[in-house]
Order: sequence, then C-alpha cells, then structure tokens
Amino acid sequence: MKENAINTTSEKLYLHPLVWSYALFFIILIIILVYIIIVSRKKHRYKQVKKYSTAYQNLCEINQKYRFSYLIESVHLISETYPSKQKWDRVDINKRSMELLYNDNYLNLIREKITENREKYKEYTKEVNTILKTPKECITMSNVPLKQFIRIENTLWDETMLKPPQDIEISITFRYVSPQGRKHYENTATYYFDDYLFACVAIPLEQQRVADSKTQQQFERAKMSNSLRYDIMKRDGFRCVLCGAKAFDSITLHVDHIIPIAKGGKTEWDNLRTLCDRCNSGKRDKYDYNGLN
Ligand SMILES: [Zn+2]
Repeated sequence: MKENAINTTSEKLYLHPLVWSYALFFIILIIILVYIIIVSRKKHRYKQVKKYSTAYQNLCEINQKYRFSYLIESVHLISETYPSKQKWDRVDINKRSMELLYNDNYLNLIREKITENREKYKEYTKEVNTILKTPKECITMSNVPLKQFIRIENTLWDETMLKPPQDIEISITFRYVSPQGRKHYENTATYYFDDYLFACVAIPLEQQRVADSKTQQQFERAKMSNSLRYDIMKRDGFRCVLCGAKAFDSITLHVDHIIPIAKGGKTEWDNLRTLCDRCNSGKRDKYDYNGLN
C-alpha cells in the first residue's frame, strides 16, 4: 500500500508537469497584479494629495518666485606645490591659506552667487514658514486616510523645498614631491565660505598695514638730513661709540639707528649713534635692548 501511494504521487508529479507550470504562471500573474494595484493606488494617492494639499500648492507657488544659483561646486580644490622640502616645511599654513583663498579666481567668481543665495534663502524660508497647514476638509475631500495624507504631504514637501547651495568646502593642499618622485609630502587644510569671507577682509587690511609701514619707513629715512648727521657725530665726539675709532684712522663713520627703521625705529636724537663701518657692518638690522651688539 505504502509503495503504491508513493508511486501514485511520483506519477502525478511526473505525469502532470503542465499543472505545475500553470500554477506557477498564475502565482506570478497574481503577484504582478497585486504589485500593479499597489503602485497605482500609491500613484493615485500622491495625485490626490498634490491636488488637495493647499500647503504643497502654496509651496510650489512660492518656489516660482525664487531663482537661486545652483552651478556651484560643493568641494573646491586648491593646491600649491613647493620646489623644496625646506620651503614646504616653512610654510605657515593658516596665513598662506588666507592668501590663497583671497586670490582664488573661482571663489571670487562664486562669491556673489553664494552671498545672494544666502540672502534669498532667508527670505524664502521666512515666506515658507507663513504657509498654513492643509485644512481638514481638504484632506477629507481627497479620500486619502489622514495618516497617509500627512505622510505623503511631508514627503512631497521635502522633495519640493528648494535647497540652493549656500556654502562650499575648500580643500587646500600644500605639496612637495622629491625630484625622483620617491618621497611625497602633503598637508591639507579644509576651509568654508565664511573663512573665505574672512580672508577677503583680513588680507586687504594686512596689505594696507604693510604698505603703511613702508611709507612710515620711507618717511623716517627721509628725516636723516646732513645737518642731523653732523649733530649726532658732534654729540658723540666724532668717534665710534662702540670701539672709539676716529674718522682719520682710515675709517668711515656712520650715523646708525639703534632700533632699525625696519623694526619701527625712528630717526630721533635718542635712537641715533655714531658707528664706524666695521662695527656697523656687523650690526645690520640686529637690535638688542642695550643698544649694543
Ligand atoms: Zn667701531
């Protein structure tokens, strides 16, 4: 009996492969149909929400009024290569970065775009925040269950809100590669648009400060007249104040700034002294607080 039963099942399995094919076909068909129904119902609900959500429609209306710039890189790369390891070692990354940011053509080009986007976006969000929630009656009219309606409305809202670029990541790389290319040194610093704006203020101020101090130095040099030079030498007894050498010992006397002009020294009685050329040449722009080198 047992053997028989096994035989019949295996016969059935063997004899009716078409039945199984049909069954499989119908199962797949049903799955496809269910899928189509679900998708079309979802589509229909989205359509209904779009039609009855006053909040979504108001957002679309506001979007029409705003034009943002979208053609802005999200990451901007700047790199600088140094001719020697020594120069690479010595670079003051923060200071040099500010200069590179300030002088970068691309950043100068998009500066206005990002600034404008930021300003406009503030107005935009202000206006968007005045949009009221979709009234209950509209939700009822849509025939979409409340929970679903709100869920779909939120998704639509996120998709529709404008997201203009308002910042840029700036990656600055300082690089040195040894002549044979065997050794590779790299330092990378990351900055953002606000750092660039800071550089735009700081660098011109620094340039102005340098220019001002140069003007000041020229002014101090111009104050050194022949008459003042004579007065200082006379005060010092026509001798080098360091070694005591006199002009006739085949030595030339100079009037020297104790605090050098390049370091903020003034052409004034107290900051001047007589030096022979030997003592003076050893001194250059050095300065110690005793006035002695
Ligand atoms: Zn001397």
